[in-house]
Formats: sequence, C-alpha cells, structure tokens
Amino acid sequence: MYNLNGQVAIVTGAGSGIGRAIALRLSLEGATIVAADLNGDAAEKLIEEIKGLGRRGLAVQVDVSSEKDVERTVKETMDNFAQIGILVNNAGTGSMGLIIDQSEEDWERPMRVNLRGTFLCCRTVAKEMIPRRRGRIVNIASIAGKSGEEFIGAYCASKFGVIGLTQALAKELGRYRITVNAVCPGYVWTPMWEDLAKWFKENFPSLADKSLQDIFENRVKSVTPLRRPQTPEDIASLVAFLVSEEAGNITGQSINVDGGAVMH
Ligand code: NAD
Repeated sequence: MYNLNGQVAIVTGAGSGIGRAIALRLSLEGATIVAADLNGDAAEKLIEEIKGLGRRGLAVQVDVSSEKDVERTVKETMDNFAQIGILVNNAGTGSMGLIIDQSEEDWERPMRVNLRGTFLCCRTVAKEMIPRRRGRIVNIASIAGKSGEEFIGAYCASKFGVIGLTQALAKELGRYRITVNAVCPGYVWTPMWEDLAKWFKENFPSLADKSLQDIFENRVKSVTPLRRPQTPEDIASLVAFLVSEEAGNITGQSINVDGGAVMH
C-alpha cells in the first residue's frame, strides 16, 4: 500500500475500464478522486461508489480535447479541494482500419482525444502543480506507442506522441519536482478492446464464427510470453506506485504492463 492521504487526483476516462480501476485504487490508497469523463453518468456512478466506501470524490463531465472543458475541470477541482497533486491522463479512443482507407476524421479522432487531450490536461494542471513544487503526472499510452501495429495506425501515432510528450514534459517539469511518466498497457479486456474485436470479426471471414472474447484471447496467446491478458488492476498497480512518494526519482519513463509482448 502507498500512502496517498491528503492527495487530490484527477483521473480522466475514469468512467470505464482501466480508468475506473485506477480511480478506485488511488482512492483506496487515500487520494480524493476527481473522475473526469465524457460519460458524465459513468463518472457520477463511480464517485457514488467511492463515497460509499467512505472516501472523497467529485465527478466532472468533460471532453478532454476541449480547452474550455479542461479549464473548467481544473477550476472545479481547485474550488472544491484547493490543490491537485496527481494527474492521470487515461481517457482514450481508437480508430480501426488500414491507413489507406482512413478518412481525415479517422486520423484526427485519436489525435484529438489521446494526444491533444493529454497535452491540454498536462498544461492546465502543471500550472497548478508548479507553485507547490510537487506533482505526479502519469499518461496512459500503450505498447502501440512503442511498436507500430497494422490496422491501428492513427492510434499508434497518437500514442507514440504521448510518449514523446511525456519525455519532453519530464525534462521541463523536473526542476519543480514534478514527475511525468507513461504506462503502456498491453491487452486489457475493456469496451475499447471489444470494439477492436468486433472490427476484426467483421473484416476477417476466418474470424466470423469466433466470439469476441476468443478473438481477444487468441491474439494475447500469440504475442504475449506470459500468455495471459492484463487486468485493469494490473495497470492500476503500476500507476499507484508511480504517483507515490517511493517513485520520486523516476521520471520520463514509459513502462510496459503487457506480459512481455514488447520488450523496450
Ligand atoms: P474504455 O473505452 O473502457 O474507457 C475509455 C474511457 O474514456 C471511457 O469512460 C470514455 O467515456 C472516456 N473518454 C473517451 N473519450 C473521452 C474524451 N474525449 N474526454 C473524456 N473522456 C473520454 O477504454 P480502456 O481500455 O479502459 O482504455 C483506457 C486507456 O488505456 C486508453 O487511453 C487506451 O488507449 C489505453 N489502452 C488500453 C488498452 C486495452 O487493452 N484496453 C491497451 C493499451 C492502452
């Protein structure tokens, strides 16, 4: 366990999958959670659950790619809790298809949410962290940000961008004792992967009679030395460490939680 008592953490995309597990874990460690999600109802539901566990939190409906929304989220957090010690940029979206078939919007969507959204949240929150000379930023990238993959080119490009942004920010913010790291999940069964499996099923006749779960598990077995998927809690464990006092000398890193699928 890490002691996050007295810390305030903004977790974007906290309404589902990996973000939800991160918010619950940081809350268990003692942090007050600001659940920021496009799906306001899902964020509200999570905060009710957190309050039911006797912890503090606030739900905010936000589109991370909107400067206005991000500024409002940070203002609401400051008005309610007067500080932000932790930012986890987890909100993300995919885009499937061969690059030669993609429209400009297919390309723009992951760039807008995954990369621009991470930039906007880092920029706005860092301005609140700098005067306090302390902060922890964790960006949820992907192993697709380390090694290009067919059919998810725009998503890969956005996640490579997140890793570059993480390194640049770690250099800019280190003097203020703010650490910036990325966590790169491998294969986690969430609504995002369900959409990907649906796309494979629709586009590959050999997969037409397979269940979505089978498509996912076969993929995991074929590319992962440990031969099993990761859970949202696996990802949350590393995030909890990276935002703790113990990780104060780690910055600019992009760490895979992927069963060994990618080894750099
Ligand atoms: P998910 O679809 O279950 O959850 C994504 C959440 O982000 C949802 O609650 C959604 O409402 C929210 N969101 C989407 N667009 C948003 C926006 N513009 N503003 C605010 N919130 C928005 O997905 P997940 O699998 O939990 O993915 C979480 C993160 O992990 C993403 O960044 C994803 O790229 C990354 N990731 C996932 C996997 C995986 O295997 N699932 C692997 C590598 C990386």
